[in-house]
Amino acid sequence: MQTHEIRRRFLAHFENAGHTPVPSASLILDDPTLLFVNAGMVQFKPYFLGEAPPPYATATSIQKCVRTGDIENVGHTTRHNTFFQMAGNFSFGDYFKEGAIRHAWALITGSQDDGGFGFDPERIWVTVYENDDEAERIWHEVIGMPAERIQRRDGRDNYWDMGIPGPGGPCSEIYYDRGPEYGVEGGPVADEDRYLEIWNLVFMQDVRGDQSPKYGAAPIGELPQKNIDTGMGIERVAFLLQGVDNVYETDLVRPVIDRVQELSGRSYDDGSAEDGVRFRVIADHVRTGAMIIGDGVVPGNEGRGYVLRRLLRRVVRNARLLGITEPVLVDLVGVVRDAMGPSYPELVTDFPRIAAVAAAEEEAFLATLATGSRLFESAVSETRAGGSTQLSGENAFLLHDTYGFPIDLTLEMAAEAGLDVDEGAFQSLMGQQRARAKADAASRKQGAADHSVYRRLLEEHPPGEFLGYTDLQAATRIV
Ligand code: ATP
Ligand code: MG
Ligand code: MG
Ligand code: MG
Repeated sequence: MQTHEIRRRFLAHFENAGHTPVPSASLILDDPTLLFVNAGMVQFKPYFLGEAPPPYATATSIQKCVRTGDIENVGHTTRHNTFFQMAGNFSFGDYFKEGAIRHAWALITGSQDDGGFGFDPERIWVTVYENDDEAERIWHEVIGMPAERIQRRDGRDNYWDMGIPGPGGPCSEIYYDRGPEYGVEGGPVADEDRYLEIWNLVFMQDVRGDQSPKYGAAPIGELPQKNIDTGMGIERVAFLLQGVDNVYETDLVRPVIDRVQELSGRSYDDGSAEDGVRFRVIADHVRTGAMIIGDGVVPGNEGRGYVLRRLLRRVVRNARLLGITEPVLVDLVGVVRDAMGPSYPELVTDFPRIAAVAAAEEEAFLATLATGSRLFESAVSETRAGGSTQLSGENAFLLHDTYGFPIDLTLEMAAEAGLDVDEGAFQSLMGQQRARAKADAASRKQGAADHSVYRRLLEEHPPGEFLGYTDLQAATRIV
């Protein structure tokens, strides 16, 4: 089943049940807690927080999401995109747990001839919050889910809140068992790769205080009006229904992999494991880049612009590691436009602008690479002349700091030249630089709308980790 059909069926299911269809919000909303919209409920926050009356009792949407916190997973796990589409249904004081569970069940196990996704009910597992007897009872008694496929999880996985006093509530997550060849038995608590999470249902029922129920503290009250917020990953459903191996091989992402095979002359399916990761990273990141530029971000050194820059440069770098030396971004963004255009017409109408932004960034980065490469070459000669096989940490740091040369590129190029790199010394120089940045940051005045806060967070964490955004997003994680 193609992605556009999965989207259509989701919306049709909920529209038939009286939900108002609401278009995706932009990835960029005026929300100081978020760099990018990362869940379907973000645009409905004022209704959930009681700041505005909801114009409808129930709604459904397919929201564009970006989760930079997942960047290091991309290409390595089977299930994490940086850009993905979260399909959701929302109830503002209308139906609650039973309604949400019944809807999700009907859609995922409903026959394909009847507008459902046709998943085998025997392969579905669910989790509920550790003390949510009500959800467990509904799954077991109303739906008929055998008790052994219902697992309880604590608040770290199955409790939602916004990290601040306000609404909160238990979650129930729905998983599909891909089968014994994909991991160990024992349900989602044992293996999240074999058991693929497809849908999260949030039951907003509590008022939480200063202490988070996530970590065991009891909520301080009950919400006067109970709400439902759900999120189903379109790419994950497509991954399963298309019989491919991961979210990067689904119909809207795979075309980029195919184009990169043509450009590089290397094979994705029969190539090395390292190359496989590179193909997937390129396909994921170029799509995210196109969507972010589409919503008005330009590359820069702070906040959203920095995320975009990092994504685009990772595309270019990985393309080079696959042996491509020519510029690739405009070409690949064109592939994204063709794949995603039917759902996101702005990619088509705005293509000249999107392509121009991507082209300029690539040109700048290729210039960086060109200058950096000269320094790299002389560092290699120097190393060899000194009878060593190890590039110094100072040189790796200089390449990173002055030429914006990512360390993994230095490592890769050094390996090609038969050298390794003094990574310990490199990391310690990076650590010193971060300490300086931290001291700088501490002495700088803070402002609420000051996006340099993101930059500072980024500086405080090693580039490979990207924890600044993970933590920021975790604090406001929605479903
Ligand atoms: P996971 O545990 O697999 O990282 P999650 O629990 O962080 O997922 P939720 O926050 O519950 O995900 O988001 C709701 C749904 O959105 C998930 O059930 C999944 O189907 C989808 N989803 C979440 N993150 C991603 C991602 N990085 N790429 C693709 N789909 C995603
Ligand atoms: Mg996650
Ligand atoms: Mg999860
Ligand atoms: Mg989840």
